[in-house]
Amino acid sequence: MSFITRFAPSPSGPLHLGHAYSAVLAHDMARKAGGTMHLRIDDLDAARSRPEWEAQILDDLRWLGVTWPEPVWRQSERLPRYRAALADLWARGLLYPCTCTRADIRAAASAPQEGAPLAGPDGIVYPGTCRPARPPAGPLPDAPLRLDTGRALALAGGVLSFTETGAGPDGETGSIPLMNLEDSVGDVALARAGSGASYHLAIVCDDADQGVTHVIRGRDLFAATAIHVLLQRLFGHATPTYHHHRLIRDGAGRRLAKRDDARAIATYRDEGLTPANIRRMVGLTPAPGVSISTSSPPRNAV
Ligand code: GLU
Ligand code: ZN
Repeated sequence: MSFITRFAPSPSGPLHLGHAYSAVLAHDMARKAGGTMHLRIDDLDAARSRPEWEAQILDDLRWLGVTWPEPVWRQSERLPRYRAALADLWARGLLYPCTCTRADIRAAASAPQEGAPLAGPDGIVYPGTCRPARPPAGPLPDAPLRLDTGRALALAGGVLSFTETGAGPDGETGSIPLMNLEDSVGDVALARAGSGASYHLAIVCDDADQGVTHVIRGRDLFAATAIHVLLQRLFGHATPTYHHHRLIRDGAGRRLAKRDDARAIATYRDEGLTPANIRRMVGLTPAPGVSISTSSPPRNAV
């Protein structure tokens, strides 16, 4: 079986140790399996994406020894593809417009009759305020849209599941059944104002179109996999195997943030560290055929 994976950074900040770990791990796993790792740029968030960050990310990845086939896909260049996917779901009565803001959702979800608001993979689980009794008619509107998850699950039929070869936040591994998505995930936003497509919709289209067989990414996205598997089923795509990996934390145990320039790969490069030093800092064994010199230990503990 072929092994196709991808690394999909958002060009909204520097590549830091956490991203480097994810990219190098995916690249190592692909190489070991005789497969391919695609590089994809998740630049749907136009307000935060910058060409300078993209250039720096590519340069840092090359420096780390990561390689990928050209051309590199950019989500900003694939909007018609996402629109077609939305039109498909819309025509099947699975979407509805919703312009609720995060504050509206928080207020609605905190109403006394709702109990404590539930946190889902996409923020607070949407309480269904705008969900219509019947699917809306007419052409696909240019508006923020949500998936009617209840209707989608009825159409998808059967039990949804995926195979995890890494581990979720609670050690979940093996075959993961997906239950109660209506409550745990809710009606997720699939089209947002401005970008036209949400992250969830876009990556499901991208993974299918690139023939991705293995998704390797951080454990923080484990819960979002439920949304991706449901969309795959609706579109008739095969579900890849998932490998969620541990997250790289700073000395105080916090997750690394985009703004955490101290752990940007560019900073380590400026300080004279080598790719082998970086591998060792994130707990990866040396690349095949590379021996690490012990004469220059990393100056920064992770
Ligand atoms: N751009 C996403 C991120 O950096 C990619 C997520 C994914 O791999 O599915 O979080
Ligand atoms: Zn709404």
